Amino acid sequence: MNIPFSDLNAQHKEIRKEISKAITGVIERGDFILGQDVALFEKAFAQFCGVNYAVGVSSGTSALFLALRALGVGPNDEVIVPAFTYIATASAVSYTGAKPVFVDIEEDTYNIDVSKIKKAITKNTKVIMPVHLYGQPADMPKILELARQYELKIVEDAAQAHGAKIKMPSGAWKPVGSIGDAGCFSFYPSKNLGGLGDGGLVAANHKEIFDSVFMLRNCGRKSKYDHVVVGYNARLDTLQAAVLREKLKKLTPWNRMRQNAAKIYNKYLGDINGVIIPYAAPDVQHVYHVYAIRVKNREKVYQALKSKGVGVIIHYPIPVHLQKAYENLGYKKGDCPVSEKIAQEIISLPMFPHLKESQIKYIANILRKALKE
Ligand SMILES: *Cc1c(COP(=O)(O)O)cnc(C)c1O
Repeated sequence: MNIPFSDLNAQHKEIRKEISKAITGVIERGDFILGQDVALFEKAFAQFCGVNYAVGVSSGTSALFLALRALGVGPNDEVIVPAFTYIATASAVSYTGAKPVFVDIEEDTYNIDVSKIKKAITKNTKVIMPVHLYGQPADMPKILELARQYELKIVEDAAQAHGAKIKMPSGAWKPVGSIGDAGCFSFYPSKNLGGLGDGGLVAANHKEIFDSVFMLRNCGRKSKYDHVVVGYNARLDTLQAAVLREKLKKLTPWNRMRQNAAKIYNKYLGDINGVIIPYAAPDVQHVYHVYAIRVKNREKVYQALKSKGVGVIIHYPIPVHLQKAYENLGYKKGDCPVSEKIAQEIISLPMFPHLKESQIKYIANILRKALKE
């Protein structure tokens, strides 16, 4: 059997006609840059995310960068990020001239360990940037509390968690991206909501943040000839927006299918000695962008799965504080021990909405055998 890590074809097959029609519409109108689908998609996504405003941008990385810029982050500032994430979380901070400050993660959720944030706060700290890793919301109620106490802003990296929700102290369930000052999404093709290329979005409730990102993404333009700040070319393509509008309509059922696949995985893997299945906190709706297990002998397990045709990926083998790119910040082994341990044990199994029980069973059998030997 051959089981890919992710199967975008299965998604696109469901809505091939709609996608073709959307693309043809853009070609016929010729409104390739900031055309009508961009504003329509922004409106639909803002509604989906429960925020007042949304701005489409060129990638998830741009979304993070522009959100930080809109909050006034720059040289001499510090931004708190988890040590265990995709490197773009930290690069976006570096682009502004600010310094990423790495904080270790929790051993169960793999999200930033809020109890360790306080120690990382200095007089230069401006923003806490939690990542909703693998599709599981970070502990936003506690992060909000800290941010209020220290007068910090919050930028959510929701690149892996479109549609995930968390129960707030009020009892209300809130979508990720709608809780902090800005919520940043990526539409990289394999994300829960993915385009046919790069794309991203900044969600916000405050008009000032919206206005600022709106100008920054389009050359600092307030109106056609009026450039009030030095901006960037970081626009979302109309073609991507048109496709994303169609795919957004499927996001909720596709997330449900991912959750169902995770449940089936848990059933088959839960009793295998040596496998730690993902933990979902009680007050969250995890959307399983990634289904990652932990094993002690990862190399062996990885090879066993690969050799039997199973697509596996490591998210991520090197925590960001130990990446060569951040050598200059002076972190060393042992600074974020949980991140370092998880980085050695984690392995992501195939996960996509159309994954079948028979495929999961096949994967479980390989795992059971590999761990017995
Ligand atoms: C994918 C991702 C990004 C970056 O998104 P791009 O669209 O690839 O720029 C940022 N943070 C996290 C956690 C991601 O998974």
